[in-house]
Amino acid sequence: MTEITRRAVLGASTAAASLRASPEKPALLGGPGVRAEKWPSWPVFDRQEEEALLGVLRSGLWNRRSGKQVARFEEAYAKLTGARYCLATSSGTSALITSLSALGVGAGDEVIVPPYTFVATVNAVLMQHAIPVFVDTDRETFQMDARKLEPAITERTRAVMPVHLGGSPADLDAILAIAAKRKIPVIEDACQAHLAEWRNRKVGTWGSTGCFSFQASKNLNCGDGGALLTNDQDLADKCYAFHTNSSGRQASGFSSLYVQRGANLRMTEFQGALLAAQMTRLENQARRRQANAEYLTSLLKSISGISTAKMYVGCTRNAYHLYMFRYDKSKFANLPLARFLKALHAEGVPASAGYSPLNKEPFLLNTLNSRGYRRFLSEKDVQRWRERSACPENDKLCEEAVWLTQNMLLAERSAMDQIAEAIARIQAYAADLARL
Ligand SMILES: *Cc1c(COP(=O)(O)O)cnc(C)c1O
Repeated sequence: MTEITRRAVLGASTAAASLRASPEKPALLGGPGVRAEKWPSWPVFDRQEEEALLGVLRSGLWNRRSGKQVARFEEAYAKLTGARYCLATSSGTSALITSLSALGVGAGDEVIVPPYTFVATVNAVLMQHAIPVFVDTDRETFQMDARKLEPAITERTRAVMPVHLGGSPADLDAILAIAAKRKIPVIEDACQAHLAEWRNRKVGTWGSTGCFSFQASKNLNCGDGGALLTNDQDLADKCYAFHTNSSGRQASGFSSLYVQRGANLRMTEFQGALLAAQMTRLENQARRRQANAEYLTSLLKSISGISTAKMYVGCTRNAYHLYMFRYDKSKFANLPLARFLKALHAEGVPASAGYSPLNKEPFLLNTLNSRGYRRFLSEKDVQRWRERSACPENDKLCEEAVWLTQNMLLAERSAMDQIAEAIARIQAYAADLARL
């Protein structure tokens, strides 16, 4: 069902030629290292951001219910993504919680999530006293394996939360079709996927809601912040009320007409103003990341044992929050991943091993065994959850994944040659590095 393709990459042959025939010694063995310069710093800002923040400060209107900055940002982000409604929130986590709550997901309900994600995806589910059900990862794409989605659905399933991990869209065709057939809402966790597209339409606009994060590391950033998108007016109203202590959109002051539970998950005017300024840089940054990432992929093709993350055919734009590949140590004289990463670091190329298996985190079992949960889960239910949570493909992925962060993709194009050259050097001397 799921056809996978690597995006067409031009210039692969000329790119491969730029890798040297006989690489230099790696830095760990006394070589010169590929890069001494710093990588681009993050965040990027100038006078525009300073003036935006000072403007809010001097206005004295710091809260969204007095000022206009957050509302303006919502309008701009909805326009940018093509969504009918946008609601800004205090974080990506709060956008997810708001979505789950507005969709009525509560205690004992099951929510389907991938295990290869940031912990917040799962925490949002647990905050509703709902149960995260893991669907194993498609190792080739690093995304939820949609072929394994339907068997995970039960009569308790109340939502599916695919994550567009690293900025690359999950297999939305398959996920949306299954969810529609089973009448289960989809909440897109697009926290890493600003401007990513599925069939030329922005991710975050396909599900019942789509959630974004503007936390400091993300491709659009105001320190902390978030937003959700929806095309459903009723859902937009419910989300709005939930995020501001159940006051309706029009209500001024305090109302006695509270219709649901709520919290204060509002964005401040400072964040709204900062985001509006940051948004003017987003498209250019996204283009640069994409061009560099595609070039890097063309270079890494010629290195055996490096498998770059593939994209599904519906992916028409990858946001590249992360550049992800798999490392096969058998093609590197069995050099362990940790040593490979250390060698890369020594070259001047910082890379990380990414996530560890979230489905195996002890806090999950502790939570399901907590007093509140055990009111509706028997010991047998918890045991059954443990059995269902096995994700063998994800376990393998966690042992071979390598990530580069988005700011590295904002460097000059020649920096991509340096990354590929660093890996080539390590490979050429892998046996020596393994003996260190
Ligand atoms: C960052 C992130 C979140 C949470 O966003 P915050 O703004 O940090 O609360 C959720 N899911 C994913 C996949 C993320 O990367």
